[in-house]
Amino acid sequence: MAVLPLSVRTLRPVLRVHLLFLAVFLFSSFLTWRELQTLKINYEDRQRAALVDMQNGLERQFQESLDGIIYYRRMFTYALAHPLEAEHARQVLNDFQRLRYQPAWQLRLDLPRSMPINGVSDSWLAKDTLLQRDPARLDDELRAAVEFSFIMQFSDAETDFHSRFWYTSRAGFYISSRPPHDLTTLSQSYATMVLRPWFRNMATQPQPSPLHWSGVYQGAEDEGPMLTVSTPVISNDYWYGALAMDFTQPRIAALLSKMRHSALQGSVLLLDNMQQPVASLNAAGSKALSARAQRQLHAQMARQPQGALRLENQFISWSRLKNVDGYLLNQQTLAQGLRQDLGRAMLFMLTMWLLFVLLLVLAHQVIVRLVQRLSDLSARLEYRASYDGLTRLLNRSAFFERFRAEAARCQQLSAPLAVIQLDIDHFKSVNDTWGHQAGDQALMRVAAIIAQTVRRNDVAGRVGGEEFCVVLPETSLAEAENVAERMRQRLADKTILVSASRAFRVTLSAGIASSEEQQDYQVQRLHAEADRRLYLAKSRGRNRVISAG
Ligand code: GH3
Ligand code: MG
Ligand code: MG
Repeated sequence: MAVLPLSVRTLRPVLRVHLLFLAVFLFSSFLTWRELQTLKINYEDRQRAALVDMQNGLERQFQESLDGIIYYRRMFTYALAHPLEAEHARQVLNDFQRLRYQPAWQLRLDLPRSMPINGVSDSWLAKDTLLQRDPARLDDELRAAVEFSFIMQFSDAETDFHSRFWYTSRAGFYISSRPPHDLTTLSQSYATMVLRPWFRNMATQPQPSPLHWSGVYQGAEDEGPMLTVSTPVISNDYWYGALAMDFTQPRIAALLSKMRHSALQGSVLLLDNMQQPVASLNAAGSKALSARAQRQLHAQMARQPQGALRLENQFISWSRLKNVDGYLLNQQTLAQGLRQDLGRAMLFMLTMWLLFVLLLVLAHQVIVRLVQRLSDLSARLEYRASYDGLTRLLNRSAFFERFRAEAARCQQLSAPLAVIQLDIDHFKSVNDTWGHQAGDQALMRVAAIIAQTVRRNDVAGRVGGEEFCVVLPETSLAEAENVAERMRQRLADKTILVSASRAFRVTLSAGIASSEEQQDYQVQRLHAEADRRLYLAKSRGRNRVISAG
């Protein structure tokens, strides 16, 4: 009997529409996110490849110098093992014996293309236990140094990548591609060299070690920050001294700028083995990392020779150099990345996605409204198919359908079922006297009384023009009689107003049948029995309820 409220009926299709659109939204968002992710990964891969390109160029340039130092070491060691008895060498040994007690001295051969040998006194050497002039080895070392000084001429300080190249002996002398201009700076230069950690550390490494790189340090002669690579000269298990090369910051920076890859964004830095910056490119555009992020980056770099990290909205990739003890690092901010292709592609994708979402929202609104309207319409049609428009009770076919269902249910439960058939008395004359509209009003009044009197599980319907029927499941004949009597009484007590001054009354007659009494659950038979008793009521004077006879 109860009618489902419209809102509950429409909820399900609308909810389905909501879920469908939510799924489309989530799916499109996921696809867009994935596409953006792929774009970003591609971009980062390209950045890393560009960094590797740059690294290769940088290493090629360094390698030229490193090949030089390795070749010179071999040459020097060979010259030590096979000393050459030459006239100019004898001359040098003689001059050395003459000069060795002077605080600072320079030995120049009377030959073109030779570099001077620069030295300090015996007494100067006595201050430092690491330094010594071993008489058994000194002559051979000086001869090798003379040979070396010829070769060194082919080193060109202007065109070479390294800014300086030299041999420092433990025996108190050195030869440099940039010889001292006067004797006053000579001993100071020698002192600086032999005090450098890379030189002193060689004393504890008796085996010929590979190349050793210093960290970045401030050069002695206004040269600015630089890196030094060094290697010991060892012959017959004796450490003679060291060959070394300097690489200054401006030259490295110039090389970085030359090697710069057009696809690479942000700043590029060359870091030493302690991850201190040696030289940089475009450093002005980059943002400094916090101390915490810096520590995190350094820890990661120590673990991985090559990698990338996203820290504080910056993309940082690095690669450890193969022939230099250091790293090449690329650091770029999000803004730098977005300004490029990646940014444009990402903005385009995001705009497309936003447009799509906008269209989706619009489509959602339209479809939800459409579905709501359709649901309302179908609910109204459904109602009309089952209910009578005037009295809002079930119509004849819907009523008998429910009647049959209730009869079957009660039969299964072996519960009693009662039927009341009602008919308005002299209704024709109501119409004739008060008009059709007043008749309709009376019909509505009767229907309202029926609806008020029945219980939730009872089924009431309009089965004819002014005939009604009520099915009362799980109800005895006597109880049904009470119900019918209450209906009759309520109607008899009421007047129906036609206008302010005119009113009339109507009555009803009712016949009741029960499955209990009839020993039958058949709908047609029960209904016919109730109808028969209704006619009995009519014939006995109307306005009464008959349940027997
Ligand atoms: P009785 O006491 O024997 O039942 O007398 P009655 O006049 O009610 O007799 P009957 O059942 O033959 O008359 C039914 C009348 O009900 C006929 C018709 O004019 C009227 N009627 C049927 N349906 C409607 C309706 O929807 N509206 C109105 N106003 N009248 C209706
Ligand atoms: Mg009738
Ligand atoms: Mg009648």
